Amino acid sequence: MGISFDNSFQRLPPLLFERVEPTPLKNPKLMALSPACLRDMGWSEDGIDANELVEWLNGTRHWPGEQRISTRYAGHQFGVWAGQLGDGRAISLGEFLHQGRRFEIQTKGSGLTPFSRMGDGKAVIRSSVREFLCSEAMAALGIPTTRALALINGEDEVERESVERSALVARVFPSNLRFGHFEYCFHFDHPAELKELEAYTRTLFFPEAATTEEMLEEIVRRTADLIAAWQSVGFAHGVMNTDNMSILGLTIDYGPFGFLENTRLDHICNHSDHRGRYSFGKQPNIALWNLERLLVCFTPFVDRDRLLGLLGQFAPRFTDSWLRRMSDKLGLSHQGEKDADLITDLIGLMHENEWDFTFFFRSLCSYETGKPESLEAFWRRQPKDEAFDPWLRRYDERLIRDGMDPGERRKRQRKVNPKYVLRNHIAQDVIEAVEKDDDRQLRRWLNVLLSPDEEHPEFDSFAGPTPPARRNLMVSCSS
Ligand code: AMP
Ligand code: MG
Repeated sequence: MGISFDNSFQRLPPLLFERVEPTPLKNPKLMALSPACLRDMGWSEDGIDANELVEWLNGTRHWPGEQRISTRYAGHQFGVWAGQLGDGRAISLGEFLHQGRRFEIQTKGSGLTPFSRMGDGKAVIRSSVREFLCSEAMAALGIPTTRALALINGEDEVERESVERSALVARVFPSNLRFGHFEYCFHFDHPAELKELEAYTRTLFFPEAATTEEMLEEIVRRTADLIAAWQSVGFAHGVMNTDNMSILGLTIDYGPFGFLENTRLDHICNHSDHRGRYSFGKQPNIALWNLERLLVCFTPFVDRDRLLGLLGQFAPRFTDSWLRRMSDKLGLSHQGEKDADLITDLIGLMHENEWDFTFFFRSLCSYETGKPESLEAFWRRQPKDEAFDPWLRRYDERLIRDGMDPGERRKRQRKVNPKYVLRNHIAQDVIEAVEKDDDRQLRRWLNVLLSPDEEHPEFDSFAGPTPPARRNLMVSCSS
């Protein structure tokens, strides 16, 4: 492969990264490539030699111009300063430009790095399948995210609660920069490096920002928009530590995430999160807390009051962005005065009745104004609530006032109310197959999740509420 690499991270002060050697997986097997990710990068499935790609990702082949580095960052984990962290099992193989966009390829599960701390630098199949599928699913939902190019199985034994098999995900993003890179420079007292990092970030990734303050304003906006997007599809990240917050406003580091099944705003998807710090409903506040940790690092450059002003922009931006997404989901062509009440009351009803988040909104795409019976298919599978009738009448009024053609409305609604999300029990089925080196389910689900708004009738049984016995499978941080 002739790639013209442009490894910009290496232009940063050496403090911020270390050169490393990957530990190749034993007998690597390519389980899947994402055609959507390839296309974005300007590659095609026919145009690449898959064996060569696997060898390169696995560290047994060199490509001219590549790099092998892990980066140094710090962070606050579960609200507490955690000191130095860094890419403990991820290695960046290089960056290149395509159509003016920057793509960095990083493998996760490539073995020990100087930042592995107590870990082994490895990744198991379970967590790798989840990251691979969810990255591509989120991209298809139009949610900013790191991408996943490939999933590779290995045959090494990896010790977790039990012995599991190794795997590797190749991630793709414009940059790995996290809040934690800035926290490292600031809290370990490296002002010169902090300054260089700021200039690098602004020049390469926020070229439209003339000042540090403008860049931070954009980071606040993107973070608010990201969380609004999460809340609109019922996505709970699970580990919103500051080292898992992307400076570019991408969803990053898929661990014990989950999509709301039976809607509970206090839903906790990470079973190590005993106090529910990262429960679904707290995500906006946590994002703001994390932004505060980031903005502290800029006190040498920007006046404190102005930084506080930037933080003050988060809540209104989040609310606007969330209301816009939610009113799209309801099929409204513009935002009306009382829409915020209509939307929050609906979420309240969903929470009270624990309706399946995805199934509810998808069912609403078939609603016909003034005809409650058009929701019959929903009530066959979910508990009815009398309090929903008055809500539905308010919705009717609002739809009539809106005046959009009903066929057009339903078409638009289907675009923003996916039929399929990566429910944990779906991931579980795929994982069990991939652990036997069977890639068929993985490829099928990748295909479904890449067009989640389409019908895919053969997968219908996964579009409705998750059967109670398979609901809210707990997922741990262990990965
Ligand atoms: P996470 O909560 O997954 O974002 O991980 C927090 C920190 O632990 C990051 O610095 C990771 O690179 C590191 N880490 C997680 N798992 C491993 C592992 N198996 N080996 C080495 N480092 C790890
Ligand atoms: Mg992390």
